[in-house]
Amino acid sequence: MAESRVINFGAGPSALPEPVLQEAAKGLLNFDNSGIGIAEISHRSKEFSAYIAGVEQQIREQLSVPPTHSILFLQGGGTGQFSAVVLNMLARHRLLHPNLPDEERVLDYVLTGSWSKAAAQEAARLANGAKVNIAADARTLSDDGKSFDRIPPHDAYKFSKDPVLIYYCENETVSGTEFSHDEKAPESFPFELLPQGTLLPLVADYSSSFMSRPIPRLADHAIIYAGAQKNLGPAGLTIVIVRQDCIVDVDAAAKLGAVPVPTGLAYKTYAEKANMPNTPPTFAVYVTGLVLKRNAELGGLAYYEAANRRKQQKVYDVLREGEKKGVLKGHVKPGSGSWMNIVFNVLGDGAEARFLAGAEANGMKGLKGHRSVGGIRVSLYNAVTEEQVDKLVSYIRDFIAEAQP
Ligand code: PLP
Repeated sequence: MAESRVINFGAGPSALPEPVLQEAAKGLLNFDNSGIGIAEISHRSKEFSAYIAGVEQQIREQLSVPPTHSILFLQGGGTGQFSAVVLNMLARHRLLHPNLPDEERVLDYVLTGSWSKAAAQEAARLANGAKVNIAADARTLSDDGKSFDRIPPHDAYKFSKDPVLIYYCENETVSGTEFSHDEKAPESFPFELLPQGTLLPLVADYSSSFMSRPIPRLADHAIIYAGAQKNLGPAGLTIVIVRQDCIVDVDAAAKLGAVPVPTGLAYKTYAEKANMPNTPPTFAVYVTGLVLKRNAELGGLAYYEAANRRKQQKVYDVLREGEKKGVLKGHVKPGSGSWMNIVFNVLGDGAEARFLAGAEANGMKGLKGHRSVGGIRVSLYNAVTEEQVDKLVSYIRDFIAEAQP
């Protein structure tokens, strides 16, 4: 490891595997023996065209994406998708129900943190007469009525009949709440409450948990999207897995009265041109491909699911120890805690600053909580190794011992 590198527990953009970075450095000078670096080569070159098709194939294989779904590469991040999902799904609904009055079109949002809240706000901006229905709001269940500190139990959801879309964020990066993948857990997503036997308009933001473990009921989703910058690569690439019935003719929908969809946000634009209607973020695609190749060598999602399970368990265990001793306090109710982002407070005056300074002195950075929640946030994306987690856990354990009242 280069001497100056530290352990990066940051929430994103976040750590990338060291061997991938070394390989990427070579590609910057000479991509695929073309004699041209990856940041310089034409995206229309035969080398890059073959490469981007291979990246798509790797995602399909590693996540078991069925042939009913296309994999699109866009830009604009999660924020771009807050808008794109609304516009594309409103167009789809218009084509399915051309004569329905706008006020009878409903978009269902499940709020479990600030990212799903931001997505719902964008939907309200773009709805153009359609209604945004909050199908569940985790804040109403919290002790103070305003914290996102849990995943709602199944009886807290009220979904609409035939909505334009049903939206949730699988992992809330800021509050550290994540849906359980154990179907029997009360904190799982309530798939059984959704209309059965139809093509579900289910949309999921997987920005901060994509590729960390398999996606439950992937085939039942209309759209799953994620920015690459947490588990896969550098910022700039946005991956959208979209069921083909949601890749609609947005211009035909506009003629029927739907909101016109900008060309760069219409899924059709990318699906029709093999993901290259314009210049893709070539370097981000390149590094993502290197990460996926490495993932496959290590054992794919099964490998990461097992490693990530162990990593989060170690951190939650030490957090529970710290809670018992009155030194730490978790932000999230047990059962709703994220595998990727673990948020807690260090109790006592100036204790958090001491915790962060001590961590930094030990070569660990990126632990400061998001400004809206405060405290500490440990992000455990795929590139964070178990040895690095052990080092953090041992630091926290020592901190608890010293701080214990
Ligand atoms: N959704 C989630 C869960 C996120 O964590 C983020 C950013 O961190 C976003 C959406 C916004 O993504 P972007 O910064 O790519 O627009």
